[in-house]
Amino acid sequence: MRGYRDYLTRAAGIAQRQLNALPPKDNEGGTMKAMVLESVSSVEEKPLKLVDLPKPVPGRDEIVIRISACGVCHTELDEIEGRVPPSRFPMILGHEIVGSVEGVGAAAKKFRKGDRVGIAWINWACGKCPFCLNGEENLCDTARWTGKDAHGGYAQFTVVSEGFAYPIPDEFSDVKAAPLLCAGVIGYRALRLSRMEDGKVLGLYGFGASAHIVIQVAKHKYPNGRVFVFTRPHQKEHQDLARRLGADWIGATGDTSPEKLDCAIDFTPVGEPVREALRNLQKGGRVVINAIRKVNPVPELDYTEHLWYEKEVKSVANVTRRDAQEFLPLAADIPIIPETQEFELEQANEALILLKEGKMQGAGVLKIAE
Ligand SMILES: [Zn+2]
Ligand SMILES: [Zn+2]
Repeated sequence: MRGYRDYLTRAAGIAQRQLNALPPKDNEGGTMKAMVLESVSSVEEKPLKLVDLPKPVPGRDEIVIRISACGVCHTELDEIEGRVPPSRFPMILGHEIVGSVEGVGAAAKKFRKGDRVGIAWINWACGKCPFCLNGEENLCDTARWTGKDAHGGYAQFTVVSEGFAYPIPDEFSDVKAAPLLCAGVIGYRALRLSRMEDGKVLGLYGFGASAHIVIQVAKHKYPNGRVFVFTRPHQKEHQDLARRLGADWIGATGDTSPEKLDCAIDFTPVGEPVREALRNLQKGGRVVINAIRKVNPVPELDYTEHLWYEKEVKSVANVTRRDAQEFLPLAADIPIIPETQEFELEQANEALILLKEGKMQGAGVLKIAE
């Protein structure tokens, strides 16, 4: 309990500092429900605890968002289990946030109360470092990440700098929009980095939240391209979903693909598919790894078999605002239809366990009641 009391004291201090910078408003204050992580733990221990916290108050250029949906992402498993620990505790996880603007700071101009907006993994970047100036704010040394360095979406309210929120296209319900904000945006970035082109063969290793969106983008952008999907052998439901979404061939990780892959994206949390994808890769091809961490090492590579002939491996790190700004309208145009499985805020632990077991169908989304 001590940790939680400290947190409340700190949270009250932050709220007070924010209030000091703003004229007080009558409609602010009150509490909200949130699922918080208090320390690194195993997911099976159901570490997220439901608590009441003070409602956030916007700083000068910030907006407060009343959250209606928040996607459940594999990165939360990495945070909880300590592979990507939050920068402080307790932390409210969650970075696929959809809701409506509830309040705006004195200098915030971009949105009005009631606007529907989303927040993604990138919460803030400095805008001044060589990476930021080069359009690579995803690599900014001092960037902050939603649900890791700033409180995220497993709660009724959150606050963000207005420049890091995006309008949500009308085509999507709140629940359907949520997974677009990470699974979709980062999948889009991975697809771009893969150098897929029309007529080529794209391999997808793993078929969860991100891959099932990427296949829809690939089928739209590259109508003459083909997509080969590799899953764990027992993931029959993932394979059925891949078939429904137009996969041209489906097999198990470890299978030799019927044709060489011109490019491949690995969405899995484990090391082996990297080597498998390299083995199946065409000369000059590229494997993109769409994962923030791996739970086990990439196995030893044989230079001749896995790397020679100018094969490349490239990781995807985080996202930029541009990725989100490009992807959301494209997703509405296609339109992408994310497969979602809904949970209550209080069921976040159970959702994360299902995700870890590879049993989530499409993307998990917490539907957050008022
Ligand atoms: Zn994510
Ligand atoms: Zn920077």
